[in-house]
Order: sequence, then structure tokens, then C-alpha cells
Amino acid sequence: MLSRATKMTIKQVSKELQEGVIQSSEFCQASLQRINNTKYLNNFITVSSELAKNQVQYSEKLIKSGSARSPLEGLPVAVKDNFCTSGVRTTCASKMLENFIPSYNATVVQKLIDHGACIVGKTNMDEFAMGSGAVDSAFGPTRNVWKSQVENLNTKVDPEDWFIAGGSSGGSAAAVASGACFAALGSDTGGSTRTPAAYCGVVGLKPTYGLLSRHGLIPLVNSMDVPGIVARNVEDTTLILNILAGWDSKDSTTVSDLFEPIDLEENFSLSRLTVGIPTEYHNPDVDQQILDIWSDVASLLERLGAKVIPVSLPHTKYSIACYSILNHCEVASNMARYDGIEFGFRAAETKSTEEMFAASRSHGFNQVVRGRIISGNYFLLSRNYENHFMQALKLRRLISEDFLKVWAKGVDLLLSPVTLGEAPRYSDFKLKDNREQCATQDYCTQPANLAGCPAISIPIRLSKGGMPLGLQLLAPNFGERNLLNVARKIETEVDFPTLMLDDCL
Ligand code: GLN
Repeated sequence: MLSRATKMTIKQVSKELQEGVIQSSEFCQASLQRINNTKYLNNFITVSSELAKNQVQYSEKLIKSGSARSPLEGLPVAVKDNFCTSGVRTTCASKMLENFIPSYNATVVQKLIDHGACIVGKTNMDEFAMGSGAVDSAFGPTRNVWKSQVENLNTKVDPEDWFIAGGSSGGSAAAVASGACFAALGSDTGGSTRTPAAYCGVVGLKPTYGLLSRHGLIPLVNSMDVPGIVARNVEDTTLILNILAGWDSKDSTTVSDLFEPIDLEENFSLSRLTVGIPTEYHNPDVDQQILDIWSDVASLLERLGAKVIPVSLPHTKYSIACYSILNHCEVASNMARYDGIEFGFRAAETKSTEEMFAASRSHGFNQVVRGRIISGNYFLLSRNYENHFMQALKLRRLISEDFLKVWAKGVDLLLSPVTLGEAPRYSDFKLKDNREQCATQDYCTQPANLAGCPAISIPIRLSKGGMPLGLQLLAPNFGERNLLNVARKIETEVDFPTLMLDDCL
């Protein structure tokens, strides 16, 4: 009965709730059941059943009295475990914050709650969002739901043969793809919402930097972090963006007046749009199947009336190096707060305060986090600062200017791959370390974070092996309206298959 909803938008489901065809508590129950039945995905770190049940009780009252707060009223939503949730532990998938229970909600979480969403749990991720596979978590790797359906889960599949969900917001993407919730919050610093969305066959939006509040999002790289939205389709993504966007007095980097809620237009015309194909995104390692969908969708956009032209973003090749220097420098500074005193894990039996700091940090963080702290501090040493940090900042400006020049020539959107191929197997993924993996996985996604512009990952079709393949659209800052309208056109045309599961929502 509820699995019917897999093919429905949030607005359609909401209509049925208002009409009393179905009760929101049934959804909440089904969601918790689904999470329980798909534990093998390891996509949730904490399931907040009590909170969700209380929220849904209240929602049901409001729905019955005709005063639903939004179409999200009474619907299950998940939250990545790097957003603070009042009274619900927030671990960042790290031993350091294993027992951290915030006393407040991140602004975007509060907005979801104020609009009636029921928060069913906190999703798995790479520790402190440092990664691209959702495998470097203190709670173990997240598994991709697509292949898990094909392989019989009751016969023990070797964990090494799992397909990864992508990261770092892999838990959120797997939660949405597995039918456990209608949408989930991710975060995107270098691609962490778009990559797992592409690998899991769902929509992943990285909004313009400053459009959504970062208050309560535990920082990775303050100058690039944005809350991301993972949903089943572009319409739901837009609905949630409209709820979350806007100025926040608690985040001075949010903008005040540049966002008007977006209505997707039924008859949106592409005839006055120019779509650029960035030449430099033809990475030598990109899989032929990705190249095929890339050119197919470019032709589709042409058929729909858009002008499609090749464009150049000449500094793309420096983006990985530039990103990693800036990332590590901001990480070094952000992680300084975890000292064993104010927050999180404290090592026992140390002889001095200094030893306690060191032991807490060595045992509380994984190797990836420790490595980034060390290299970040190295880049920031007074003798290295000019040659590394300052150079990287200059490169960042050049990379941003590449985009500005393309927009200035009349290009409205860019179309590119999200990932270089389909989701890899866990055993293959682990052959390369976190740093090497990020260099590969984030190749097409990081530049948008350096420039701050919005980008969306849209599922296009299944690979020969039955795994989702996605593409990315990018737009000028605050160009979400065109971005989402064109994304929806593509979505309608490609008709990506829905993963039908017996007990999903
Ligand atoms: N893979 C990138 C990193 O580890 C991006 C992570 C993210 O977007 N949170 O830094």
C-alpha cells in the first residue's frame, strides 16, 4: 500500500494525507520499519524513533484540523549526522563526538521541523565529512542499496564485494534510495551530496553558498560548506529548498534578499537557454558509459530547444590541488576545538594536560582527520603560508573567474558528469586511500564549491551492470530557478527507473 508512494511526489502524498486516504503515522511506522529491515545498508548511525513518533502525533492532529504547516507535514526525513539535532546525538561519524548530544537544532533542521517533517534518524557519513565514499566512518561503511537488491542479502555477501554508496553523505543518499524517507539533509563541501546521489540514483542539490544557513552544521571547510538536499525527484528537492533557503541571523554568510521561492514551470522553455559543455571535464579516466549519457543528454537539451556549445574552464586542472590545500588549512583550524576538554572524547590516564590533548586527539580522530590536521598546519606555518595557502587562494579566484567568464558570455548552465563512473565495489575503492579517492571522485564536483555556485546531480540511467549513472548541471550563483527547471525537464525525459521495494515508502 505505502510502496505506491515511491512514485509520488511529496505534494501528491500530502494531498492524500489531507484527504485522510492515509495517515501520517502509517508512514512514520513504515519508515522506522524500513530502516530496521535495511540495517545491512548501515546508513543510519542513530534512529530517532521516539522523536519521530512524537512529531508525527502532533502532525496528525494538525492535519486532522486542516492546519498542516506545509506539504512536508507528517513525512519522514533523515538528517546527516553532522547537523546538530537537539537531544539527539550528533557524532560526525567520529569517536570524538560519539556521545555528543547538542542542546540546539541546526537552523535547517529547525526549519524542517517547523514545517512538519518527522526526523527519523541521523545518517552515516565519512568522519567529519572528509571523504567521498561513506566508508571512512567510525561506524563502518555504508552500502549501496541498488546492488544489495540484486544480490541476495540473506545469503552472506562478502562485505568486500559491496558497492559503496558514495560520500560523504552516503547514509542520506542510501536512506532516500532505500525508501526509508522522502528526503534527507546532506552537506556538500567538495561534492559530498552530489556524488552519493549519483551513485544511489537519487537527486542531490548543492545550493549556492550562502543561500542556506550553516548554523549548526559542524564545519569542515567554512568557506565552502553548504547544506545539501537529497530527494527522490526534482520537485521534492525544490519544495525543500524553498523551505530551507533564506537569511539567518546566526550565520553571517547567509544572504538576505536574493532568493524568491521557486515554482517549477510546467511549460518551461529551453529555447532561450545556452548550455555549456566544459571541455576540461573530459577527464582521461571517465568511463565510456558516462561519456555516452553526457552526449545523449546534451543532444536531448538541443532537441528541447537549448543551444549547446563547448566551453573552457582552463583552471580546472588545478582545482584538486587548490581544494585540498584550502580544505586541510580550514580543517586544521576547525578541528582545534576538539581538545578533550570542551567537546567530545577525552583520553583517560594521561600525566599532563598536553598529553591529554594529544591522546584525546590521536584516539578520537581517525587517520584521515589526523592527516589533514597535520598537513593543514604545515601549509599554515609562517614559512609555508605564502607558497601554499596564499597561492591556493589565488587559484581559487582564477577557478571562480573561469565560471564568471563563461556566464558572462551568455552561457546559462553547464552540463557535466558528476562521477567518473558507476559506484565502485568496496574492495576496489579501498585500493586507494582517502586522498587519492577524493582526487578521483571529486574531480567534477569540487570546482562548484570553490566558486560557490549551485549544482545538481540527476539520475539518468542504469549502467550495463545495473547501477545508477548521473549527470551534473551547474548554474551561476543564485541561478537555482533555471537549474531546477532544466533538471526537471531532463528528469521527465530520461524517466530513470524507480527502485521498487516491497516495504519502502
Ligand atoms: N571528498 C571531499 C573531501 O573529503 C569532499 C567532502 C565533502 O563534500 N564533504 O574533502
